[in-house]
Amino acid sequence: MQPETLWIASSIAGLLGLCVGSFLNVVIHRLPLMMEREWHVQCAELRGEASSEPTEILTLARPRSRCPACGHKISAVENIPLVSYFLILRGKCSGCGTSISLRYPIIELASGLLSAYAIWHFGPTTQGAGAVILIWALLALTCIDIDTQLLPDSITLPLLWLGLLANLWGIYTSLDNSVIGAVAGYLSLWSIFWLFKLATGKEGMGYGDFKLLAALGAWLGWSLLPAIVLLSSVVGAVVGITLIMVSKHGRNVPIPFGPYLAAAGVIALFWGQQLTRGYLDLLP
Ligand SMILES: [Zn+2]
Repeated sequence: MQPETLWIASSIAGLLGLCVGSFLNVVIHRLPLMMEREWHVQCAELRGEASSEPTEILTLARPRSRCPACGHKISAVENIPLVSYFLILRGKCSGCGTSISLRYPIIELASGLLSAYAIWHFGPTTQGAGAVILIWALLALTCIDIDTQLLPDSITLPLLWLGLLANLWGIYTSLDNSVIGAVAGYLSLWSIFWLFKLATGKEGMGYGDFKLLAALGAWLGWSLLPAIVLLSSVVGAVVGITLIMVSKHGRNVPIPFGPYLAAAGVIALFWGQQLTRGYLDLLP
């Protein structure tokens, strides 16, 4: 591949990643709200009550994004990834001057950079395109889990099927490896969950974590699962202990596991083969 072609393809992926990052911000904010509304409606139905929810329609596309403080509608010019935040709005709502969280541009930037790198790493191929989609989904799951301790089925399950589908053509691994990966991913965390629960009476993680690891197993194959679990546990333990020591983060406040799984999944996507070879070499 010509280096110029790769540069151009990566830049296009980066720009697309920035725009999708902006959409991911909407998903991260609204999907949990939409789920919560649906639960309220279902609970009301089960109790035999008419739903008393405000019936303003909330979907990922409608209504237009608004400032949570003053309700100012975000115009198209104020919606350009990064540019709007840093150059036009300078971190403040143009309606009321309330500062806007730095998280929005950070997610846009993360999405842009990771998308560009995925194409740089895999080339403008099916493998590269799939990697970009996986990264977007993992980014959304990470932030939703941090905010709400939930990993929505509406993202984890399609991700699982997409991984199996991609490997029908052996894009990342063989189909055998992928199917066993999906089952083993789910069952391994499920077993740890139950052992932990029987031993301590506490729930260390949720069913969303099992589904997320199943999805990663489907994409990357069972052979990368040990690396993913190991990586996420080490990073999770380090961050968790730091949080407990540094802040007043209580020992019993649950720390979401999804972000570590997602981060380990991205690392395994790019460098999994090298990692596996690395630790097999360490064995006598
Ligand atoms: Zn405002």
